[in-house]
Amino acid sequence: MAGFPAERIGYLTREQSFSACHRLHSVHLSDEENKQVYGKCNNPNGHGHNYKVEVTVRGKIDPITGMVMNLTELKRCIEEVIIIPLDHKNLDKDVPYFADVISTTENLAVYIWDNMVKMLPANKLYEIRIHETDKNIVMYRGE
Ligand SMILES: [Zn+2]
Repeated sequence: MAGFPAERIGYLTREQSFSACHRLHSVHLSDEENKQVYGKCNNPNGHGHNYKVEVTVRGKIDPITGMVMNLTELKRCIEEVIIIPLDHKNLDKDVPYFADVISTTENLAVYIWDNMVKMLPANKLYEIRIHETDKNIVMYRGE
């Protein structure tokens, strides 16, 4: 069609912070090994983080709206999947998923992906990136 360029694919990221505590402790390791593997996160009384999550969606830039997806809808999904279940919670005790899954940032990214993908329009979710600290960053793309 005259005036419209070829189909364009865009990426849209929304960032969301939340705070939560956890304790990383594997039943498959000894107490000493747990301490070595998980360090501070193995503290017997738990350990807190200020997480920062980036949720990226990918899709065609709609020629009518000029958007990859409606940001209001993305904000609503983030509220339901991240804020309500995780913010200011004990991940191991308040989130049933982590009763028998170790609450590492990798597994947290998988948890967020699995719940986010159910709420978003099909084939839109591209990446979950979690900053556990300024220096430790995990990303998951559903593979
Ligand atoms: Zn920790």
